Amino acid sequence: MNERKDASVKKMAELLRQGATMLAEACPQCGSPLLKVGEDIYCAMCDRRIVYADADEDIESQAVRELIPKLRETLLTKLDTLNDVIERETDAEALTKLANLMVLLLQALHRLETMEK
Ligand SMILES: [Zn+2]
Repeated sequence: MNERKDASVKKMAELLRQGATMLAEACPQCGSPLLKVGEDIYCAMCDRRIVYADADEDIESQAVRELIPKLRETLLTKLDTLNDVIERETDAEALTKLANLMVLLLQALHRLETMEK
């Protein structure tokens, strides 16, 4: 264990010498300081790359959130168009399909509303 710790400290020092920067965050696994090596976050103690799945998710949902107003506008336009089409449609089979489509669009719209909160 001590030997491994020694090795990891050496590895850390080596990385720092190569231009890695020490981060304020600690490794979620072992609590030792994390290093930023290029674009990667690395834990010398665990000898592995740390992937912040949560942070990535945040960035993604943030991007999606920014899209929501646009998506809602698109959905509303489609629903408006669909309403016109349904009004003119007399074929039962076509109406069923159109009604299904409308339900899907409304569900998508509803999902957007709940996502925004
Ligand atoms: Zn670690």
